Amino acid sequence: MISKKMIELIKNGSAIRAMFEEGKIMSEKYGKENVYDFSLGNPSIIPPESVKNAIFEIIKEQPETIIHGYMNNCGYEDVRKKVAQNINDKNGTDFGKDNIIMTVGAAGALNITLKTIINPGDEVILFAPYFGEYNNYLSNYDAVPIIVKPDFERFSINFEDFEKKLTKNTKAVIINNPNNPTGVVYSEDDIKKLAEILEQKQKEFKISIYLISDEPYRELVFNNESVPYITKYYKNTFVGYSYSKTLSLPGERIGYLVVPSELDDYEQILGGLGVANRILGYVNAPSLFQKVIAECLNDTAELSIYEENKNILFKALTEYGYECVEPKGTFYMFPKSFINDDKVFCEKAKEFRLVIVPGSTFACSGYFRIAYCVDKNTILNSLESFKLLAEFYEKK
Ligand code: PLP
Repeated sequence: MISKKMIELIKNGSAIRAMFEEGKIMSEKYGKENVYDFSLGNPSIIPPESVKNAIFEIIKEQPETIIHGYMNNCGYEDVRKKVAQNINDKNGTDFGKDNIIMTVGAAGALNITLKTIINPGDEVILFAPYFGEYNNYLSNYDAVPIIVKPDFERFSINFEDFEKKLTKNTKAVIINNPNNPTGVVYSEDDIKKLAEILEQKQKEFKISIYLISDEPYRELVFNNESVPYITKYYKNTFVGYSYSKTLSLPGERIGYLVVPSELDDYEQILGGLGVANRILGYVNAPSLFQKVIAECLNDTAELSIYEENKNILFKALTEYGYECVEPKGTFYMFPKSFINDDKVFCEKAKEFRLVIVPGSTFACSGYFRIAYCVDKNTILNSLESFKLLAEFYEKK
């Protein structure tokens, strides 16, 4: 008999994965080109040539014992040093190798952080709408999710509700910038205000409140939008990063965690993170791909394609009457559904061969998510379906 906790996890499933599976069934039935599957954040563009070259070079040049062997649980020291230097060059920070832990993607970075800092019952604040997997990550360590209501106007931070939700039991706050599912990028003013509130509450409750910034979309911004580097604004910050989206390598499971020396209890935390990386079963981040990303730190896949997709889709959808905050990054859009029941709305969308994900999956009902990391033809061919869906509801 499996555990009670796992029974619940299976029951709650992942609506995103369920829609993805449904999309595959629809594709078999109607033909792939006749189904517009916007369910999964799986990059549609190939990794840059430098990734392939680095793989071949490393395999040719390095002794096999090194590239395929165990190493320090935190990752190769030369790679961590290069990653730290690259972050410093891009953001004017001052990190060294002991501020970087190579992880199994952003998911690994979040999990080792939570494993290290959470006691059962600790509260962790999430801002709706948020990436639904956070609930599962918190449940791994018996943390209690405390959900801040959405700021419907900008999909930034609802500061009023945030202040109310911080208590002496708050251990951490998770933000995701740029944001999945809204595509919003938090401004510097928002980050400063967030930091100010956290400082004030730390003093008031005489506790450490850790900010965990989940940033797999940091490089995916439109119009040269800048994404503030959060460790500069609040010292108790961890940053989780991943190469899944920027280098189109989600299956290779490679990312890192930034652990600033200024964190409260830094030494203990660093030790804990290394242990967490090992005992959660990862042991270390994939060996070959640590070496590969170290050779591609300034490269990205052809990300401008996502901006093109966003422009086409956003223009068309707003013309058809959809209400939506314009994304400034990522490859997601989060329009309002025409009816309050977003699940019924997404079911109806299937009749028009559109596979989209209900907002309630992201703790924000009445909306739906479009993952437009698909090829341009899928976007163009889907427009008629979005139009018909809008007309269906306008006729009611
Ligand atoms: N955080 C957010 C907001 C995501 O959207 C994703 C993946 O889609 C992840 C974390 C997990 O990223 P990774 O595949 O790099 O572990």
